[in-house]
Amino acid sequence: MGCGKNVEVITIGNELLLGRTADQHLAYLGEHLSKHHVHIQRSVVVNDDPEAIEREILESWDLADVILTTGGLGPTSDDCTREAIARALGVELIRDEGTERRLAQRFERMNRSMTPNNLRQAMKPAGAEIIRNAYGTAPGIWFERDGKILIMLPGPPEELRPMFENDVLPRLYEMGLLGEESPYVELRTVGVGESTLEHTLQPLLAGYPGLNVAYRAQDAIVDCRLSSRNGEYSQEDLEAIGDECATALGEDFVGFGCQMLSKIISEELRGREQMLAVAESCTGGLLASCFTDIPGASKTFAGGVVAYTNAAKVQLLGVPECLLYQHGAVSAENAVAMATGVAERLSAEYALSITGFAGPGGGSPDNPVGTIHLGLHTPQGVWSRKVNYQGSRATVKCRAVNASLDWLRRELRQPTPPLTRTKVEHGT
Ligand code: ATP
Repeated sequence: MGCGKNVEVITIGNELLLGRTADQHLAYLGEHLSKHHVHIQRSVVVNDDPEAIEREILESWDLADVILTTGGLGPTSDDCTREAIARALGVELIRDEGTERRLAQRFERMNRSMTPNNLRQAMKPAGAEIIRNAYGTAPGIWFERDGKILIMLPGPPEELRPMFENDVLPRLYEMGLLGEESPYVELRTVGVGESTLEHTLQPLLAGYPGLNVAYRAQDAIVDCRLSSRNGEYSQEDLEAIGDECATALGEDFVGFGCQMLSKIISEELRGREQMLAVAESCTGGLLASCFTDIPGASKTFAGGVVAYTNAAKVQLLGVPECLLYQHGAVSAENAVAMATGVAERLSAEYALSITGFAGPGGGSPDNPVGTIHLGLHTPQGVWSRKVNYQGSRATVKCRAVNASLDWLRRELRQPTPPLTRTKVEHGT
């Protein structure tokens, strides 16, 4: 670890080996530990099979100083991590009264009766400590013996991550097992590809020897992480280089850190005391969901309409039937009509709309699969823009949502409102 300790990860779950769930834990744990100069030495994935778990625990117990296990802590009979680990360590499983009480209270609050198998989650190996789970019923478990530490974490990422960040990392740090977090700066960009971003920044970054530059792209968002290779740059140095990059990127630069586009938009609209509404077809509520992810969204987000069929577009958004007949649902004209319709119906100053062929079927020679028409309604006018994305249905939907958000983000950056206009733009 930070001081040369050996850390291993045992990921448990049939669904991972059956290919039904992609493992998210190793990347997450590896990233967080490596920020503290700790490098995972070995990682294995095993089925919910008590003997296989026991075998791996015995092997890791010999080799590692810190063992992290994930999954198999739930209430059902296939969740056997606790039992297998207790057997491997040669200790009894005992009941933890505090956990039992909290479980009972939780079920009471949910107005549900607790079944006997839920009580399995209140068991822990003798000598172990419970790590409370703020987001689920299965607590984590911390066990120490002979200078070694074994930490059992729950399987769901939304339960594992807060537990790891709030309980496990601070405790390892206090024990002197983690190094200081290395300084770094992360820049978020959108709308520029990874290679274009590198091409833009390369001449600038070439002037900083020993700088580590890592790019990460997902659904039109590209993050660039700057850090030192060998401690050459302080946090202040990296922030100054980050500022230079931001200037070079202009409006393609979204912000420092992993900022959500919808949050940036909401904050801007909140400052202006203006509202946003959205109308979506192929993205089925994904765009609206980006705004309802933000606490306090109702201050700026009026609402959204998912209008999938032509009839719904007519009924819910007032899109003229003749427009749909003449231009089709996947058209610039419809994107404009949807944005205008939802802005009027929900009395919002701004509105976004998305209509398109997310694939894999559909499309036409003019509008092949992956064609999306975006609409943007502002107090100054209404526009549409045509884009085309390759990839799975899920990828096309995510990219369409990000393109729509990015369009409004850029619009809101403009210092003075542009002239009144109704415009159809074409581009990819
Ligand atoms: P639960 O009380 O939810 O059963 P658990 O600790 O028993 O918690 P598991 O049953 O192993 O956890 O996993 C629950 C769910 O968490 C899985 O169905 C899967 O969706 C998710 N999950 C588990 N392990 C991983 C992983 N390595 N990567 C991503 N998701 C995972």
